[in-house]
Amino acid sequence: MKILVSDALHEAGIELLRKVADVEVATGLGDEQLIEKIRSADALLVRSKTKVTKNVIQAAKKLKVIGRAGVGVDNIDLEAATKRGIVVVNAPEASSITVAEHTIGLMLAIARKIPFADASLKSGKWEKKKFLGIELRGKTLGVIGFGRIGSQVVAKAKAFGMQILVYDPYISEKLAKDLGAKITDLEELIKNSDFITLHVPLTEQTRGMIGKREIEKMKKGTFIINCARGGIVDEKALYEGLKSGKIAGVALDVFEKEPPLESPLLKLDNVIVTPHLGASTEEAQKYASIIACEEVMRVLKNEAPHNVVNMPVFSPEVLEKLRGYLPLVGSLGKFSIQLVKGRISDVSITYCGKLLEVEEMNVLTNAALSGLLSPILSESVNLLNAPIVAKNRGIRVTEGRREDSEKFGNLMILKIRTDREETEVKGTLLGEEARIVSIDGYSLDLAPKGEILLVKHEDRPGMIGEVALSLGKQKINIATMQVGRKEIGGMQLMAITVDQQVSKEVLRTISKIGGVEKALAVEI
Ligand code: NAD
Repeated sequence: MKILVSDALHEAGIELLRKVADVEVATGLGDEQLIEKIRSADALLVRSKTKVTKNVIQAAKKLKVIGRAGVGVDNIDLEAATKRGIVVVNAPEASSITVAEHTIGLMLAIARKIPFADASLKSGKWEKKKFLGIELRGKTLGVIGFGRIGSQVVAKAKAFGMQILVYDPYISEKLAKDLGAKITDLEELIKNSDFITLHVPLTEQTRGMIGKREIEKMKKGTFIINCARGGIVDEKALYEGLKSGKIAGVALDVFEKEPPLESPLLKLDNVIVTPHLGASTEEAQKYASIIACEEVMRVLKNEAPHNVVNMPVFSPEVLEKLRGYLPLVGSLGKFSIQLVKGRISDVSITYCGKLLEVEEMNVLTNAALSGLLSPILSESVNLLNAPIVAKNRGIRVTEGRREDSEKFGNLMILKIRTDREETEVKGTLLGEEARIVSIDGYSLDLAPKGEILLVKHEDRPGMIGEVALSLGKQKINIATMQVGRKEIGGMQLMAITVDQQVSKEVLRTISKIGGVEKALAVEI
């Protein structure tokens, strides 16, 4: 068996490979050299430098697996790999402790003004009074995002005697309690924290989640640390908050634009910056190498890998059977998760009518979970790892079967229960087209794609006009509109597909229209 390592991987992982295979380490290869060497390789290991293009993948005759010693897989053509049945694995958890330690390091540095004191002394000054700091003990730390890194930060911050508030609507309360943290909502966290640290992925929901409005609600003298992704904190609002004194200090490892050389934040003397160093330690590289090599060996030994990035490959017959149903169930998952607030405890999927003929129901369920969990996690959630990811988050998943498919040939019913509410979305495949046919008992006929505005309102004359007028005033073009109701004079659900993204401001305006119970935007 031959394994090609084409980037500089830590030796610890390579040693593991050498025990079972003939390993060739050849870094800095040009495209043609790589194509030549890949022909006879069973496995390829890379970091981010090697570009594993379609041409490289097509040249590989025996390749079964590509291992990425790290997280991002932008350098690998996943589609080409999947088509050839080549599994791509990575090592997402390798740097969690490293990033958590960097976060704690930045928190101590900003609390004790260490970099500023260091610069002052090195410039020949001895300014003890100027650098009076504060202790972490007894302070409240607000942790936004309680995944791999956020939970490590909590565990470490406890040792400093900090009170911990956690905001993460997608985890079970028990997970946070077990680490001695209190789960709260974003508003409470913002109002009550002395330090706020971010550990969420950058998504449409989290972009700008700390902006002007949030900063206004903070205590005077709050410190903010961001080691997650640039853009989660609005840098302009941060600058203004620092200038006004509302924010006492900021420590950033990530920026809206990297490198942030033009950023006015760099000129402020209560800002600490590091050049996206969060994951840069010897150990993180070592673990990334070990984890990626272990994963590669699992695939070579026909064992199930833990961190698969691409989809499994199905036989043409299975693919033909699932065709259409996979995108339908994935979009039902992605749609439904955006309807609910609170911590998800249960997900149930019932397959009805013609769907009972599909033997691979578990694949469909995994696709629903992948659609549901992918928008909220920074790791790749796919058809293989979705059930494990759901289980680790304390989500109970059940599958049901029903003969009755109402008036449709096939019907899927996806129910999500959280600690605050429940939602039920029904979908069907009409020919080749996915349709949502019911949301919480309101019948509709909606294609789950693009930007969708949902408005629940009283069933009375003029309501539709008022909502449409409000959108028009805000220059939002309506593409389609549907209204569903359960009984005359009760409540109605309006589903409007629009051509632009619906901002929080637009949602607030529509929510204020008399007779509107709630308005929310869903993006598929
Ligand atoms: P993770 O997927 O394990 O955890 C993310 C958590 O955020 C999840 O628990 C999820 O439920 C929660 N979440 C998602 N949307 C949310 C929302 N709207 N509000 C509140 N919580 C929400 O990810 P991780 O591995 O812990 O990584 C966290 C962040 O750190 C990511 O942005 C990642 O890109 C970043 N990161 C940075 C570096 C660095 O070098 N600075 C290195 C690695 C990771």
